[in-house]
Amino acid sequence: MTSTVSKNGGARASVPKQILNRLDKLDQRFDRLDAKVDAVHRDVLELRAELVSVIDPKYRPLLAVGSRTIACLAVCILAACGGEAEPVAPVQPPPAPPPEQPPVTVRFVYASPSDRPFNAEYSAGIERALVSIREWYGEQLGGRTFTLQSSAPEWCQMAAPHESFITPPGYPYVWDAVETAVQDCVPLASGGDPHVWVVYADVMEPCADSYGLGRGGGGLAFMGAWDLEGLSDPEWDHCGGGVLGFGRWIGGLGHEIGHAFGLPHPPGCDAGLSTCDREALMAVGFVAWPDTYLREDEKKILLEGPFMNTTSSSEGG
Ligand SMILES: [Zn+2]
Repeated sequence: MTSTVSKNGGARASVPKQILNRLDKLDQRFDRLDAKVDAVHRDVLELRAELVSVIDPKYRPLLAVGSRTIACLAVCILAACGGEAEPVAPVQPPPAPPPEQPPVTVRFVYASPSDRPFNAEYSAGIERALVSIREWYGEQLGGRTFTLQSSAPEWCQMAAPHESFITPPGYPYVWDAVETAVQDCVPLASGGDPHVWVVYADVMEPCADSYGLGRGGGGLAFMGAWDLEGLSDPEWDHCGGGVLGFGRWIGGLGHEIGHAFGLPHPPGCDAGLSTCDREALMAVGFVAWPDTYLREDEKKILLEGPFMNTTSSSEGG
């Protein structure tokens, strides 16, 4: 150890003599203490060497039964002095902490029937939408948002042809047909799954279909070719309803992923009451996205749940 007080003559000239005297006395005390510390350190090294020789491996079982003092000394002193000593097995290792649950991530899947090829514009449209809606949730939730499994959708070529999804044999809703077929590629599941799944299926439903895609709930959301067109073609006129722009379809994703995260429609909306908060995202405000909002009760649900587990400034994928 060395003193940190400067003995430089030039510097000393500018310091009052009374202060210098006291500093010199402190220096002397420091030197004496330094010598004692060195002696203690040498003793500790000797003790450590002796301990290491005493606790020869064949005697180490003693550490676990009767020699608590030696065991404690061995563990404490060897740990404190570190370095060259042989490692000593701890007497009672602490129990292993429970394995940490991985954070829930959102997985986007672009699923094509067997007779529809990969469409790069569809994939790019999904990618723009997922980045935009993730940021928007972050803005609504004071910076909290969801974690993406990947910044681009995973592509799945399903084994079944397009027609089988429009009139699915044995399935009342096209949702079920897609949920089954997409298992060809990904282990999609709801409940207890560390993922929320958003599946964009290239299935063009008839305009009259009221039980189709564009739905969400329980950790899953399914979107259809209406959405894929809306996200990739700015002139897309859905079922003669007029050109609505990308925002309508990004907002649609925001609404359905909200259901996947467990959000219901606002109170009174399903019953058609005038008290329905219509401009909220989870009502019909999604058509005007981004000029819509999450309600305070919805924010509470999201912030207390497992899905908003990162910040919008961090990497998403
Ligand atoms: Zn809804």
